[in-house]
Amino acid sequence: MPLKKLFNRIESVRLENITKKYGEQFAVKDLNLEIRGGELLILIGRSGSGKTTAMRTINRLIEPDSGAVFINGTDVKEFDPVRLRRNIGYVIQNIGLLPHLRISENIGLLLKIEGLKEEEIRERVRDLLNRVSLPPESFMGRYPHELSGGQQQRVGLARAMALDPPLFLMDEPFGALDPLLRAQLQDEFSRIKKELGRTIVFVTHDINEAFRLGDRIAVMNNAELIQIGTPEELIFSPVNDLVAEIVDSKRKYRHIDTLKVGDMMQPIAREYTLNPGLSLESALDIMVRKGLEIAFVTEEAETSGRVHLNDILKARGKSKTLKEITRPLPFFSSETLLLEALAKLKSDGESMGLVLENNKLAGALFSDRIIQNLI
Ligand code: ADP
Ligand code: MG
Repeated sequence: MPLKKLFNRIESVRLENITKKYGEQFAVKDLNLEIRGGELLILIGRSGSGKTTAMRTINRLIEPDSGAVFINGTDVKEFDPVRLRRNIGYVIQNIGLLPHLRISENIGLLLKIEGLKEEEIRERVRDLLNRVSLPPESFMGRYPHELSGGQQQRVGLARAMALDPPLFLMDEPFGALDPLLRAQLQDEFSRIKKELGRTIVFVTHDINEAFRLGDRIAVMNNAELIQIGTPEELIFSPVNDLVAEIVDSKRKYRHIDTLKVGDMMQPIAREYTLNPGLSLESALDIMVRKGLEIAFVTEEAETSGRVHLNDILKARGKSKTLKEITRPLPFFSSETLLLEALAKLKSDGESMGLVLENNKLAGALFSDRIIQNLI
C-alpha cells in the first residue's frame, strides 16, 4: 500500500501536562495519561468533563495551550497533521458519510487519494465490509441514506480501518444506537479489535460499555483525570466517591472476587438451542421464526458452540453442515473463579461462554449480564 506509514505499531501514546482552556474555563487541565501499545483505553466521565478535547489532541484536531502528546516518543507536532490523521483511525457518533457517494466510494475515498488502483480499492473495500459483517454485494452500491443507523456506523468503522492505521480514536461510536444493536456492535467490535490487535482510545459515558470493552478505564471529571485502572481496580479501590458512584461499587456483590462461574451461570433455554444434525435450511427456518441472531448448537459438551444467522446465510448452497459453521465458545468449569472467566472472555473478545459440570453442559455465562447484575 502506498500510504507512508508514520508508525507500524504503537508502543505508547503519552499525553504530558496537557491543558486546554476556552476563555477562562478549563476543558482539560494538566492531564497526564499514557496509553500502552495494544490496549483499549476507555475515557469515561460526565458530559463536559473534557474527554473529547483530550482525545482530539492526539490527532491534532485540537492543539493544546500547553503540554505535548508523544506517539512512540515523538512529539505529534513534528508530524504533518494531515499525514498524522491518515495514520490514526477516527470514529465518531455521527460518522458523517458523504451522502452523494456510494458506500464503496465512501470507504474507498482515502484509498483513492492515496493513489491505489481501482481493482485494489475494490478488493480492499470488499474485505473491509466483510469485516464489519455487511455483505459487500448488497452494500457496495448503496447510498448512505439507504442504510440503517447501525449499518452506517459499521460503514464508519470500515472507513476508519481503510488505511489500516495502528491507532484508533473512537468518540462514543455506538452512543446513538438502540441498546440491542449496540450490544451486537460491541460484540463485533471486540472481535475486530482482537483480530487487529490495535491500540484504541475509546470515549463513552456508559459504564457497561466501558467494562465490556476496556482493558483500562480513565475517569475524567471537571477537566481532570481522577483515576485510571482496570475495571477491577476501579470497583474495589475507587479513589473517591465520584469514581465509586460511576462504577457503583457500593452495591451488592462486593465480594465478586469470591464468586464462581457456577454462581452466575444461566441455564441454556431450549429456545436458543439447535441440534447439530439439522440441515442449514431447517436451522435458518427455526432462527428466522424465533427471531434469533445467535443460537447455541449443543451436542457433546466439547463440540458445542454458537452459530450466527449471518453465517448460515453465507453458507447456504455451499453444502456445509451446521456443525461445520458452528463457532466454538470458551468453556469453563462451574468451579472457575468468576473474575478469571471474565478476564478470559475479555481477552478472547467473546461475550459468552459455556459452563461444564462433571463434563456435562450445565449452562452459559454472559459477560454483559454478569456486569449488569454485579455492578
Ligand atoms: P466531553 O467530551 O467530556 O463531553 P468536551 O471535551 O467536549 O467534554 O468539553 C469540555 C469542556 O470544554 C466543556 O465544558 C465544553 O463546553 C468546553 N468546550 C469544548 N469545546 C469548546 C469550544 N470549541 N468552545 C468553547 N468551549 C468548549
Ligand atoms: Mg464528547
